[in-house]
Amino acid sequence: MSRPISVTRSRRVPFFDYPALFAEHERAYLEIFREVLHRGAYIMQRDLVEFEVNLANYCGVKFAFGVADGTSALIIALKLADIGDGDEVIVPSHTFVATAAAVHHAGGIPVLCDCGPDHMMDVESARRLVNSRTRAVMPVQLNGRTCDMDEVGIFAKEYRLKIVEDSCQALGAKFSGKHAGTFGVAGTFSFYPAKTLGCFGDGGAVIVNDDKSAEIVRQLRDHGRGTDGKVHRFGHNARLDNIQAAILNFKLQRHEGYVARRRKLADIYCCRLREIDSILLPPAPGSEEKRFDVFQNFEIEAYERERLREHLANRGIGTILQWGGSMIHQFDDLKLKSFAPYAEEMSSRYLMLPMHHLLSDDDVHYICDEIEKFYGNS
Ligand SMILES: *Cc1c(COP(=O)(O)O)cnc(C)c1O
Repeated sequence: MSRPISVTRSRRVPFFDYPALFAEHERAYLEIFREVLHRGAYIMQRDLVEFEVNLANYCGVKFAFGVADGTSALIIALKLADIGDGDEVIVPSHTFVATAAAVHHAGGIPVLCDCGPDHMMDVESARRLVNSRTRAVMPVQLNGRTCDMDEVGIFAKEYRLKIVEDSCQALGAKFSGKHAGTFGVAGTFSFYPAKTLGCFGDGGAVIVNDDKSAEIVRQLRDHGRGTDGKVHRFGHNARLDNIQAAILNFKLQRHEGYVARRRKLADIYCCRLREIDSILLPPAPGSEEKRFDVFQNFEIEAYERERLREHLANRGIGTILQWGGSMIHQFDDLKLKSFAPYAEEMSSRYLMLPMHHLLSDDDVHYICDEIEKFYGNS
């Protein structure tokens, strides 16, 4: 008599699960596609208008404009800040190349500063880069966390610089109770699928709080056309697709839930890993008075990173190096001026662990078990 063989299926935790994003609410999404497409509502229709109202309300501002992607949002925000020919803009080196590219495409020159151990802009390093051509600073609200906006504010005031936030990763994050994206000339968001609020393609938004800025953003994203239908400047074709806006309307209602879930998972990571000396963690949720993080990413620093990644990969756990493992100051072909010693040093240690709202607690415990085993045995 043969006994059944017990098959222990080993757990797999990919870094991100793109098909699961659609599967989560497949029926609802198909209904949204059917309804919107039947109406023939493709460009700047009521779904976009509704999403813009909802997004503005969510962020506590007067205006939100859906745009083609986060990079377009940054270019529009920089143009709104009047960045142009030869103006220098200070950008952290630890960010997506799009932050610096947006400065370039607006006509400015990106100058790269350092980050600190929490991976946010290091304002002291930015101070060293100021000169008579410096016009603006771009705090990047990286990983769903905000920079110290008190410090950034003091710095900007001291040198009379404009603040243009790259809040593409930080929808819902707060500093002193104020939403990321509301500290400077304009806020910018990306709805790339893997972002906390993601659509099924590219998408983005710009938020502003006054009528005059709103009119300029409205023109810049739609061929220079204003509310009166006339062309007032050369603009871009940078509109958010109406079908994506309809999807985002559905998901925005659930965004608080996504954020709560991410914070719970971050809490597990922090509790489980805090005793390991070879790892540097981001501050745990709720551990700082002024910050509310949305944990777009869970980015750590890990000694023996490559061996750790291999250990985890062999156990079905996906990890990623943000920006493919290179910071902007390391792209020699861009020939950028920079001062980024900490970013340089930590570029051999930074690592992102799986973080999204569809992970289970057990997934994260499994990852922590394996990290403990790795450092325990090494
Ligand atoms: C995602 C992201 C952007 C914009 O990306 P798009 O792909 O253009 O939407 C800009 N800056 C940062 C830091 C980002 O993470």
